[in-house]
Amino acid sequence: MKSMAEIQSVDTKEISALREVLRGQMLVAGDPEYDEARRVWNGAIDRRPALIVRCANVADVQQAVAFATRHGLPIAVRGGGHSVAGFSTCDAGVVIDLGLMRSVFVDADARVARAQAGATGADFDRATQQHGLATTLGVVSTTGIAGLTLGGGIGWLMRKHGLACDNLLSAELVTADGCLATASATENPELFWALKGGGGNFGIITSFEYQLHPVGPMVYGGSVAFAREHRRAVLESYRELARKAPDELTAYAAMTSAPDGSPVAAIAACYAGDPADGARLLDPTKAAVGEPLLDNLGPLTYSERQSRMDASYPPGEYHYWRSCFLDDLTDEVIDILIERASNIQAPPVLELIVEQLGGAIAAGDGAFAHRDANFDVLIAANWTNPADHDRCVAWARDTAAALGPYSRGGYANYEPDAEGAYVSGAYGDRLARLGAVKAQHDPTNVFRLNQNIPPS
Ligand SMILES: Cc1cc2nc3c(=O)[nH]c(=O)nc-3n(C[C@H](O)[C@H](O)[C@H](O)COP(=O)(O)OP(=O)(O)OC[C@H]3O[C@@H](n4cnc5c(N)ncnc54)[C@H](O)[C@@H]3O)c2cc1C
Repeated sequence: MKSMAEIQSVDTKEISALREVLRGQMLVAGDPEYDEARRVWNGAIDRRPALIVRCANVADVQQAVAFATRHGLPIAVRGGGHSVAGFSTCDAGVVIDLGLMRSVFVDADARVARAQAGATGADFDRATQQHGLATTLGVVSTTGIAGLTLGGGIGWLMRKHGLACDNLLSAELVTADGCLATASATENPELFWALKGGGGNFGIITSFEYQLHPVGPMVYGGSVAFAREHRRAVLESYRELARKAPDELTAYAAMTSAPDGSPVAAIAACYAGDPADGARLLDPTKAAVGEPLLDNLGPLTYSERQSRMDASYPPGEYHYWRSCFLDDLTDEVIDILIERASNIQAPPVLELIVEQLGGAIAAGDGAFAHRDANFDVLIAANWTNPADHDRCVAWARDTAAALGPYSRGGYANYEPDAEGAYVSGAYGDRLARLGAVKAQHDPTNVFRLNQNIPPS
């Protein structure tokens, strides 16, 4: 890899030439916007790219890929910048940032949306909900659709409509040789299969085409939080709820902190059907636990459900996340969650979030490996004081280790670092097939700053 000094001294003319041909913007160290542009959501990631190319169109992406490969520079691809691991930035390489490409075009009659790859969940929901339509995306609306979809994409609609990647109809991408390709069920079908869970390994997606579904505008959901001593009752009531949940209901149980910092046990949910049916399911679960501290369960718009948790995850704080897919929420697992949650103190905010999977996910086709898991546990350490780094990371790692015997691997989109220890667990039995697709489309591993699949 070239050093920053080498890049700046040797390639000054070429950098100017690249700047000339771009429709978008290019930033280098010293440019007024450089420091803001190099930031990603996770404030613990502090890297200094040689170039940040803010692409305005597909040709800009092609120019940036060609420049980086010609000079042997690493490429980091940025959609919404929410990679907890910090994959969307790098030191002394080229960040190809699609954040200016955020348009979403909806064909309401066909129930199809084409979205540019820099769009966030909020951009997407805003465009599609105007027509009473939606597809599965994440539960924090500032997250980019690109990284989320390519890694799988779990969210409030997944049990009814599948993962975000299951709703992909096609994708347009710039490949490692700078060419433009389409992947769909009929064009490059093996590549299309790999994009549905295989992450950013195969090229830079410039636009995605998604199947939409009638959703809302009103759904039933929100969250209800109880004092910490109700943890076991919350987890046991949640397990009961999950056992009888129809596919319209997606619910999470969380050991977390209230806005005032006190530890709480909560249930968050979205019932994407008749709100009255949602109330009939969720209200008895709430009553079975006891008197809540906070309760905003009720009818709300789908867009409000999608953005309600945004304020809890602002950019710039420090984060280290792990995750474990589980077959079942057994008594042993509940004991571990309660024991690990007893370490939760605020600040920092250490969270254990149990996400119910199942429903339509099992029927999907694609590289996402954990279709038969019934739950995922997100282990999220979030802090603001750098001095808390070591104990937060240790808490998350120890919690993942405690759940390890019950788990079949973690969710690639939550896993924390580029060292790759989690890769076999994340891709499971899909890894060999993914390696073959990688060898065909990116044999020299140009796209390696991601949940990396070695070409095989
Ligand atoms: C607050 C928060 C909430 C989250 N909630 C959920 C959730 O509800 N459900 C869920 O499934 N996940 C969730 N995640 C995880 C999320 O899916 C990943 O962080 C994902 O990478 C975010 O996508 P992004 O485009 O913002 O990421 P970026 O950081 O921009 O990109 C991450 C990686 O994705 C790949 N990538 C991005 N854009 C492209 C592209 N155009 N072409 C090819 N590769 C690309 C690259 O490998 C890149 O390094 C959440 C994360 C955060 C921080």
